[in-house]
Amino acid sequence: MTGAGGQTVRQHNLALLMRLICDFAPATRVELAERAGLTKVTVTNLVAELVDAGLVHDLGVTQRGGPGRPASRVAPDPLGPVGIGLQVEVDHVAGCVVDLSGRVRRRELRRADIRRLSPAEGVRAARPVLRRLFDHATTAGQLVAGIGVSVPALFTRDRDGQPLVRAVPALGWGDVDVRGLVAAELDAIGALGVGVRVGGSVRFAAQAECGGDGAVLYVGGEAEVGAVLAGGGAGHRGEPGSLGHVPVRPGGRGCPCGRTGCLDRYAGRAAMAEAARLPETALPRLLSGTEPFAERVFEGDAAAGRAAAEAARTLADALAAPLAVLDPAAIVLGGRLAALGEVVLEPLGDRLAEQHTCPPLHAGRLGPDAALRGAAWSVLADVVADPLGWFEKP
Ligand SMILES: [Zn+2]
Repeated sequence: MTGAGGQTVRQHNLALLMRLICDFAPATRVELAERAGLTKVTVTNLVAELVDAGLVHDLGVTQRGGPGRPASRVAPDPLGPVGIGLQVEVDHVAGCVVDLSGRVRRRELRRADIRRLSPAEGVRAARPVLRRLFDHATTAGQLVAGIGVSVPALFTRDRDGQPLVRAVPALGWGDVDVRGLVAAELDAIGALGVGVRVGGSVRFAAQAECGGDGAVLYVGGEAEVGAVLAGGGAGHRGEPGSLGHVPVRPGGRGCPCGRTGCLDRYAGRAAMAEAARLPETALPRLLSGTEPFAERVFEGDAAAGRAAAEAARTLADALAAPLAVLDPAAIVLGGRLAALGEVVLEPLGDRLAEQHTCPPLHAGRLGPDAALRGAAWSVLADVVADPLGWFEKP
């Protein structure tokens, strides 16, 4: 097919097949043709293009069964382009490399007390992490499709509607050009022309947790609490405001964002650590899946238990309005609050049950690196959404 219209159909069909191959791999061309509503010949030609572009891998005949000739199956090429995820937290910088099959191929971590650093110094602390991740990708002969940077930030929008970081309360940063700072670090390590996208850690974790489901309200966060509508095609609406800075106790505890009574001062990591007289840290949870606060709760510490119960109550109060307006099919609780288990889930479920609108509540499946994986996958999602744009890129 020729002309602009033909190009659009080809572009659309390549994207459709790439999506189906990601979701249903390993799949035969006949299965893909059925799902896509295309002829087998069209699918065979388009899959050949995706294989040539290094996005799809032909696994050959992997299983027999059923009548007729055994057919070969295709899957996303694990040696194709990779996405890099980066996360800047209170006490560390972490990064990972994710391939098109969604597997984490490499993790890197550097301890640093980021809250004591300026934004430029804080992002500079990420340089060795970025260098090691790029070295890993280059040694494996893989192209880096881009970098997703996860920050527990409050966002505003620029004139083109692109999300801009307005503040990162957990790090004590105000208005800061995180994208520009990361781009400068990439220049410094010679990684030229690699795109950088900055997003909220809750958004990225939600995309990793709820990618394929129907529209659900994802509630999560590590440093602070946030919520976004996720899944069911809801994942591309930009950055939400942070639920963590919604006032739940007007005139209550003071917040680094400048207001009082924010949810984050009751259900955020810093406030809960303070209530249990523990230092705020992010690292233990990333390394082992648990944190000192959670251990105190599980040991039956009264102050920590009260803090967890208050977190659940204030969270339920903060969710009343979004639940009433959005009426989601389910609520998925992820992030560190989910890791506290029944201590949070039970009072949260009870309090939510008192609301007029209360969909089922589930705990998330992914661990503390959900945001990091979501950040890395976000750049690969662009490749999947437009394979032609990727392989025709100069
Ligand atoms: Zn606040």
